[in-house]
Amino acid sequence: SGPDVAAGVSEHVLDVPDFPQSGVMFKDLTPLFADPTGFRRAIDAIIAYHGVESFDVVAGVEARGFVIAAAVAYATGTGVVPVRKAGKLPRNTVAASYALEYGEATLEVHADAFHAGERVLVVDDVLATGGTAEASLDLVERAGGRVAGFSVLLELGFLGGRQRLAPRPVHALLTV
Ligand code: AMP
Repeated sequence: SGPDVAAGVSEHVLDVPDFPQSGVMFKDLTPLFADPTGFRRAIDAIIAYHGVESFDVVAGVEARGFVIAAAVAYATGTGVVPVRKAGKLPRNTVAASYALEYGEATLEVHADAFHAGERVLVVDDVLATGGTAEASLDLVERAGGRVAGFSVLLELGFLGGRQRLAPRPVHALLTV
């Protein structure tokens, strides 16, 4: 159930102060990925929330989203589409840039990654300001997919990512 899943995630998150820069509390989810029970429960909770019939393919956001996307796709008999940082994908891409606290970031997806109207579940580890998610969801749509849902393991509620993405729904296993 919801509270159990949230507790399971919470148990395996490490808070790392001042990483990658001063003032940021980095939420390290590698212990969750490494824990057999915690990882399985988190993946199963994402699948149960959306339902196996609700999506055709899973898009994972580089890099930690890849881990989640691969597990969800394997468990549901679907496939993975990588949303990558600029310059990594070898063929024609669509790109979206967004502002970071310092500078700018660009994400890309292959232009032919989705069949027209294909239903895409987008996953990442952490929702912070929502810039990464907003760019990823835009890319899915611009590449011909339809966003079926968006899930993260952990949402930093005070950064307003959910409001930024509204009216698109956000599913978080744990919100802090
Ligand atoms: P944002 O675009 O601000 O929502 O940032 C989300 C992306 O940056 C995700 O891909 C996260 O993996 C990463 N990220 C941002 N802030 C944190 C944080 N405090 N702890 C861990 N990851 C973070």
